[in-house]
Amino acid sequence: MPKNFIIAIDGYSSCGKSTIAKALAKHLNFIYVDSGAMYRAATLYFLRNNIDWHDHDVVIEALKDIHVELHLENDYTQVLLNDEDVSEEIRKMPVSNNVSKVSTIKEIRKAMVKLQQKMGKTKNIVMDGRDIGTTVFPDAQLKVFMTAQPLIRAERRYKELKAKGEELTVREVLDNLKERDHEDTTREESPLRKADDAIILDNSHMTPDQQLEFVVNLYKNLQDRN
Ligand code: C5P
Repeated sequence: MPKNFIIAIDGYSSCGKSTIAKALAKHLNFIYVDSGAMYRAATLYFLRNNIDWHDHDVVIEALKDIHVELHLENDYTQVLLNDEDVSEEIRKMPVSNNVSKVSTIKEIRKAMVKLQQKMGKTKNIVMDGRDIGTTVFPDAQLKVFMTAQPLIRAERRYKELKAKGEELTVREVLDNLKERDHEDTTREESPLRKADDAIILDNSHMTPDQQLEFVVNLYKNLQDRN
């Protein structure tokens, strides 16, 4: 087993992956990496600069100008795009509505996966995303695949966005997450799917504490076996 321990948390949109990944990282004293934030920051760059992400040459050029950094501050991940704090902006609907399309582009995925693998080289990490257990870290020691009923996911995300002052309906949130699920599972390049050795966590009717307990137990069982 490598010296550093990697926990991959994949799953559908708005399943609460980041909530559980953050709590788990805190509990185990691991580093939390939000891989979706990286795709979101790249999407913001493309939108702001009116870049056609279907044009491969243009994308390759643009990628040279995209520098994404994640800074962990207590429970909060600060996302820097070329030194600008874009943590709030990448969560808003213009980015949410386009990020899955941008994430289908091969060159973009290649660049992000490379960065993510670098982050996991030496440190114990919990990384959440869509392809962490299948592509980024196929040898991760623990893989969890999260799912929940679409309407439950939409209602949870709606409450979060509403609390931040975003004006939208549950229907809009539900449509967005269904569309992202569709894009993510049907894309050619590392689509969202459960790794064969991932353990399913359906949290439709679980509290965050119950989910944390479930994953901590999986980790402990692994430790006991080694
Ligand atoms: O996790 P989050 O919902 O913030 O991710 C935003 C989008 O980024 C996802 O809908 C997906 O299209 C893309 N993504 C991805 N691969 C990852 C993480 C996110 O394609 N590892």
